[in-house]
Amino acid sequence: MNIIDCGTCGNKAAESVTTDVTSLKECKIIVDNVPCYNCEKCGETMYLDSVAENIERIVRLLKNDMGAIIYTDYAKCLSSVSIKTA
Ligand SMILES: [Zn+2]
Repeated sequence: MNIIDCGTCGNKAAESVTTDVTSLKECKIIVDNVPCYNCEKCGETMYLDSVAENIERIVRLLKNDMGAIIYTDYAKCLSSVSIKTA
């Protein structure tokens, strides 16, 4: 398991997964099973740059659908839209 330093408090943050929710004017995009780092001390959730970029790309791709709530899985989404893996 990888560990990084928390950007907020400097404590160790361990690898984990989270559900990322992006609220837009037209819709809400929920991406499940997103790899992240979670700080036990302050509760901060951090993404690696590559993961943050992938979420941005997923949101950009999916928001055209104009659904009220779009639910997707991070890994599934990555394989279906051929964007770089984290
Ligand atoms: Zn922290």
